[in-house]
Amino acid sequence: MGHKASFINRIRQFWLASELGIMQRRRERRMLLLASFVMLLMGSGWGIFFGAKQQWSLVGLDLVLVVGALIVVFLTRRDQVRNASIALFGILFFVVSVIALVFDVPNAQVPRSTHFYLLPLAAAALLAFRADSFWLRHGVALLCLLAFGLLAGTQESPLPGYALSDTVRMGGVWVQIAAALLTLYALLHIMQNEVASRTELEDDLRLALKQKELQLHYQPQLNADGLVIGAEALLRWVHPRRGTVMPGQFIELAEQTGLILPIGLWVLQVACAQLSVWKDQSRMRHLRLAVNISPSQFKQIDFVPQVLTLIDRYKIDASRLELELTETMLVHDMADIIEKMSALRASGVSLSLDDFGTGYSSLNYIKRLPLNCLKIDQSFVRDVIGNPSDAAIVRMVLALGQSLNLEVVAEGVETEGQRQFLVDNGCAQFQGYLFSRALPINDFQDYARRHTAPA
Ligand code: C2E
Ligand code: MG
Ligand code: MG
Repeated sequence: MGHKASFINRIRQFWLASELGIMQRRRERRMLLLASFVMLLMGSGWGIFFGAKQQWSLVGLDLVLVVGALIVVFLTRRDQVRNASIALFGILFFVVSVIALVFDVPNAQVPRSTHFYLLPLAAAALLAFRADSFWLRHGVALLCLLAFGLLAGTQESPLPGYALSDTVRMGGVWVQIAAALLTLYALLHIMQNEVASRTELEDDLRLALKQKELQLHYQPQLNADGLVIGAEALLRWVHPRRGTVMPGQFIELAEQTGLILPIGLWVLQVACAQLSVWKDQSRMRHLRLAVNISPSQFKQIDFVPQVLTLIDRYKIDASRLELELTETMLVHDMADIIEKMSALRASGVSLSLDDFGTGYSSLNYIKRLPLNCLKIDQSFVRDVIGNPSDAAIVRMVLALGQSLNLEVVAEGVETEGQRQFLVDNGCAQFQGYLFSRALPINDFQDYARRHTAPA
């Protein structure tokens, strides 16, 4: 019975988790594949229908649909979700508008119906490009509505010779209108659900701090001898209904709503409190604790005083605290960033650059930043054995670390082969599932005691 309940619970958690975050991307891909499948079906079906009637210009348009569907599938499979969406909307807009304008020409007996598809297309554009630029989000939707309005209000065709006969059009009128409106209805329903689940998650996140649902887990960082030298603090949200929610599913929302500021401060405070506990334990006092800092957190005017106050309050050795910054935050206002980083370094705080290699920072920037440490992103470590360019990047980062006198931590080490490659190329610090996942505090302390040099 308990087994069954936990199985149902896991499905429920998966469903709730899929509402936002990483799963969102998978859902977008699935939607794109579904849309291209429908395009393929319609294109080939209508192509055969009009081929039998020897309407070659319409067969040509159906061919555009088929080829378009294949392009969308190709782009989606290569993870180019945005390009796939642009291609999908471009092709559908073109085909629907041309059919409505040239072939589905209205008269007193039979009205035009194809242009109704532009309504769900407008709604789908708002949904698909909701996280994109203003122009893409509103431009595509407004273009669809404008075309709908123009087609609803005109009867003239630029190419009168191509208009389909009333008998062919008559059969399709109600089917087309019903199909278009049902699609619109389904899209509105999806939109409404999305708004509701996002608002719910946001409301829950607001309460998470107050209700003590946030926790820090600690992922060990080891040296080449397999001894623990520190940990990275990683947030976990233990939600009463959703179960454990990973940061990938709520950090972005926290950023967008500004909730990351109180949450980030809480993380810093817990980390400093932990360091102050370890300070008095002989087998723990050497450990360094890394904390992830989000861009908006770092941008606060009083970020440096916040950190220094905590160090002071908990009376900890500042060099045991390491702040992990990301390349994305280095894009704006370098002067301010360097000033803050220098102030932190001057007080002894360690600074590392997380996910190194995935952003756009130039080597010139890296040289100017007062950093202690680079963290090689796990995406390079993953294929370091099989992929020569990843291997070259990893070697390059290790060499860069050496020549700039920076420590280098390899993230996401999962296999002994990866570890060996890294050791052979001079890497001295490691983090990854090969050693341990992020652990609750007590488990981490046990792990650290088991992996400490005997006194
Ligand atoms: P990150 O800082 O790059 O953290 C490393 C992530 O990789 C963690 O995921 C960790 O569990 C995972 N990881 C570690 N070793 C392996 C491995 O061997 N294989 C694989 N596949 N993954 C591994 P997690 O805990 O889900 O955190 C994801 C991201 O969320 C973090 O990436 C960080 O950017 C952000 N994050 C986590 N905690 C905080 C926080 O307190 N504040 C802020 N601003 N961001 C946080
Ligand atoms: Mg990190
Ligand atoms: Mg990282």
